[in-house]
Amino acid sequence: MARVYNFSAGPSVLPEKVLRIAADEMLDYKGSGQSVMEMSHRSKVYDGIIKEAESLLREVMNIPDNYKVLFLQGGAWSQFAMVPLNLMTKNKKADFVITGQWADKAQKEASKYGEAHIVASSKDKTYNYIPKLDPSTFSKDADYFHICMNNTIYGTCYHELPDTGDVPLVADISSCICSEPIDVSKFGLLFAGAQKNLAPAGLTIVIVREDLIGNAMDFTPTMFNYKTHADAGSMFNTPPCYTIYMAKLVLEWIKNDIGGLEKMKERNIKKASILYDFLDSSKMFRGTVVKEDRSLMNVPFVTDSDELNARFLKEAEELGFINLKGHRSVGGMRASIYNAMPIEGVEKLVEFMKKFEKENS
Ligand SMILES: *Cc1c(COP(=O)(O)O)cnc(C)c1O
Repeated sequence: MARVYNFSAGPSVLPEKVLRIAADEMLDYKGSGQSVMEMSHRSKVYDGIIKEAESLLREVMNIPDNYKVLFLQGGAWSQFAMVPLNLMTKNKKADFVITGQWADKAQKEASKYGEAHIVASSKDKTYNYIPKLDPSTFSKDADYFHICMNNTIYGTCYHELPDTGDVPLVADISSCICSEPIDVSKFGLLFAGAQKNLAPAGLTIVIVREDLIGNAMDFTPTMFNYKTHADAGSMFNTPPCYTIYMAKLVLEWIKNDIGGLEKMKERNIKKASILYDFLDSSKMFRGTVVKEDRSLMNVPFVTDSDELNARFLKEAEELGFINLKGHRSVGGMRASIYNAMPIEGVEKLVEFMKKFEKENS
C-alpha cells in the first residue's frame, strides 16, 4: 500500500521507521511475550521504557538537572489550567502575549484563577505576526509570563524570546518541540501535547524547573498538581504507557537517525525553505505570515480565489497530499511539515503546486 503525504496539523505524520519498529515489536516486545500495550506499568520491563524515554528527552533537549520531566495526560489544553493552578500563587497575576487561539485560550483559562494580563496581541492582523514586545509593559510582579512559541494555526514562531527578567517564562511548545535546539534554562516551564512532533495523541510533556513545583493553590485537584507527578516519577497513576513508548522510539530516531536537534533544525530549515522559496516566487500562491516570524513547522498559504483554493485542495488530495486545508480562521491551505515529514514530501508538493499554477493561469 502506498502511504500518503500527510500535512495534518495534528495528530500528524510519524517517522515511517518508527512505525515499522512499533509494528515489529507489537506482539512481543523484546522477548517479553507481550505488547507494550498490555504490560503492567509497574513491571520491570515497562519501567525500563519510561526511564529510557525520559533520559532520551533529557539528552536530546539538553534539559538541565534542576528541571523535572513529567509525562502526563489531558493534552496541552489541560496545561492552560494546570500552569495557573501551580504557578499563579504568589501575586495571583500572569502576563500573556496573544499570538493566536492557543494563547487566547490559555489566557482565558488562567483568568479563572487570577489576573491574566494581556501584554500584546496580533489579533488585528489575524495573528500573522509576532508582536514586538516592550519589557516596560510587562507586570513586574507577575508569577509567570506565558507565550505560545509556535502558532500552529497561523504559522508564526518566536525567533527571539522576550526578556522577562526574574519572571518565569512559560511556553506552549506543542507544535515545535524537538524541531530545533532550545535553551531550556531560559524557561520556568515548557509544555507540549505530543501529537504534533513526538508521538501519537495521549501524552502531554511538561518540563518544569524544580523551584516552581510544590506551591499549588489549596483546591488544586490531586491530578493537576505538578508535585503529585514529580514525586511519583510520572507513575502516580497509570501513565499513557504506549504513547510514552512511541515517544521513546521517535526520540531514538531523532538521536540516532537524524543526529540530534542541531541536525533536525538544519533539515527543517532546508525543508521549509523549499516551500517558502516557491511561495515567494509564485504569482498564484502566497504565504500569509510576515517573513521574519515564519514557522518552520506550519506553513499557511492562499491564492486570491476561494474557487482556486478548493480546486487545489481537491486535486492535491487525489494525488495523495492530504490534510492541506487551512484552519477556518485563516482559510486557504496550511502545510504542516513537522519533523517526520520527509523532504521528498515537500519537494513533491511544490512540484504539484508549480504544475497547478501553470495549468490554472
Ligand atoms: C494542538 C495545540 C494545542 C492543543 O493541544 P491538545 O493536546 O489537543 O490539548 C495547544 N497549543 C498548541 C500550540 C497546539 O498546537
